[in-house]
Amino acid sequence: MSYVIPPAPIPAVPVAGSADSFPVRRIYCVGRNYAAHAREMGSDPTREAPFFFCKPADAVVPVAPGSTADVAYPPETANYHHEVELVVAIGKRGRNIAVDAANEHVWGYAVGLDMTRRDLQFALRDKGRPWELGKAFDQSAPIAALVPASRSGHPTRGRVWLTANGKMKQEGDLADMIWTVPETIAHLSKYFELAPGDLIYTGTPEGVGPVVRGDTLTGGVEGIGELSICIV
Ligand code: MN
Repeated sequence: MSYVIPPAPIPAVPVAGSADSFPVRRIYCVGRNYAAHAREMGSDPTREAPFFFCKPADAVVPVAPGSTADVAYPPETANYHHEVELVVAIGKRGRNIAVDAANEHVWGYAVGLDMTRRDLQFALRDKGRPWELGKAFDQSAPIAALVPASRSGHPTRGRVWLTANGKMKQEGDLADMIWTVPETIAHLSKYFELAPGDLIYTGTPEGVGPVVRGDTLTGGVEGIGELSICIV
């Protein structure tokens, strides 16, 4: 069979300490998974069921270890925000995954940024409309090299942080997630069959804020890695 147009390249994320890459199938994101961030977004952080939104796979901006990636300031926003997050990479297919079996489906972890056009997200939210224009735009998912879980283990605590131009902006701890990674996988897999190549951005701690052209953002998850991007 031949294609009538050239197929798009497969989005992929580098693997730390390896020349290999992880091909991306889908990107799922968890909304409001840290209580302090839920409050700063004007929401009540009670433990209601987690909710999810998606980004297209080609929204990833892979950032190679030790490098700083350029990310273009997106159009149609005046309030472009950073959200630093632990990202989970799925390596094993499954649906209706039990919490205590969820870690078996994890291939690895990375630090990522859920970049957000906050003004659009809020306008859409307030009208009860879908969030894609605020969340699913081009280059909205920078991600560092993946660390295989065989090397990192399955982190349940550890600092999550982000600096802008060297100033600390976001600081939290994985232990403060409202829904743990296994709980998130269990819940998400009730609605979607998870498959190798899926990424899950697990939510951001408090301290999100606007960025402008020329800003350098550095984010990290303790024990997993760091990434840096420059807004151009
Ligand atoms: Mn987020």
